[in-house]
Amino acid sequence: MARVCLENIARRFDRTAAIENISFEVPDGEFWVLVGPSGCGKSTILRTIAGLETATSGNIYIGKHCVNSVPARERDVAMVFQNYALYPHMTVRENLGFGLKMRKVDRAAIDATVEGVARSLDLDRLLDRKPKQLSGGQQQRVALGRAIARQPQAFLLDEPLSNLDAQLRDDTRAELKQLHQRLGITTIYVTHDQVEAMTLADRIIVLEGGRIQQIGDPLTLYDRPKNRMVATFLGSPPMNILPATYTPDGFTVAGQTIPCPEPLAVRIQPKLGCRFDLGIRPEHIAIVGDSEAAHLYAEAIVVEPLGRETLVRVAVPGENEESPTILNLQTTPNLQPRPGEKLGLQFKLDRLFVFDPVTGEGL
Ligand code: ATP
Repeated sequence: MARVCLENIARRFDRTAAIENISFEVPDGEFWVLVGPSGCGKSTILRTIAGLETATSGNIYIGKHCVNSVPARERDVAMVFQNYALYPHMTVRENLGFGLKMRKVDRAAIDATVEGVARSLDLDRLLDRKPKQLSGGQQQRVALGRAIARQPQAFLLDEPLSNLDAQLRDDTRAELKQLHQRLGITTIYVTHDQVEAMTLADRIIVLEGGRIQQIGDPLTLYDRPKNRMVATFLGSPPMNILPATYTPDGFTVAGQTIPCPEPLAVRIQPKLGCRFDLGIRPEHIAIVGDSEAAHLYAEAIVVEPLGRETLVRVAVPGENEESPTILNLQTTPNLQPRPGEKLGLQFKLDRLFVFDPVTGEGL
């Protein structure tokens, strides 16, 4: 096991940069997740670490060694892909032992390792089956097992759960987390699924447009996003964004005003007439009926009871010809407004975020 460190990595295709200025260090034994929308550069970073892609500039270290010029097969990292890439003509046993056989490990040692790995992944009853006789989840476990059997310095996992159905995905995700807790192998995991990122990671790297937007542990990123992109990417439903103008009474949104709490005013020093994007998470808006406590009125448009909570989508009417602003709210199940109902909404003002509407930077 080893740390993995990237220093100023860039990868250009022709003149277009797929990734730029990528620097981070995953300490030995930690589980880090690269997350971001399609095309943001996640796989390029992983492939560059694996040696399947050559960085245009920058340095990569695995353990103490700079591996820039070390070929992929000598980097001692194991990569697991979305499509498992199992050998179809080999049994589970042969698939698990393949990497060791290639390294000319002796037969008895291969058998012992394969059996140990199979036991830990609950594959021991399936050792004599071929991949096509396995479910998607079992195939994925074999792909992981093959990587574990090699005892690599680090695991690189590229969307390993994305071919599984929802239930199996949840189960395999939990198994993966348990496995990491047990083995403690340095892991870098790529996904576009923010739930996977939040639940698995010691630290998350959020990427957009080939650049790192923020690095942090899941709750720090959720509670203190640096910009609008990170704020709206993590969380489901995502953070609501309301375009607002600063007026003497606070932030005016389509003719209605949300007060600006004192500490926020001191921090951002808003000027009258300035435009801001306000951010508020669905769980920080309460339905207070038609009372004086309401900051904003809106109309319920969709109500989704989920048992443990109810999701309500509301429309804040626009002024003049403007289209309405749509907000998502997360409420307790006993509150079930009817579509079309007018609702008073109260914002948790100490959980209000303010972003620059042009750059998206948090203020
Ligand atoms: P996805 O989630 O869709 O897999 P990603 O975040 O993993 O996306 P990458 O596959 O790393 O994104 O691609 C990053 C950018 O680099 C994209 O704009 C992609 O089109 C570009 N790119 C990747 N490989 C090549 C290539 N071989 N030639 C040219 N452009 C490439």
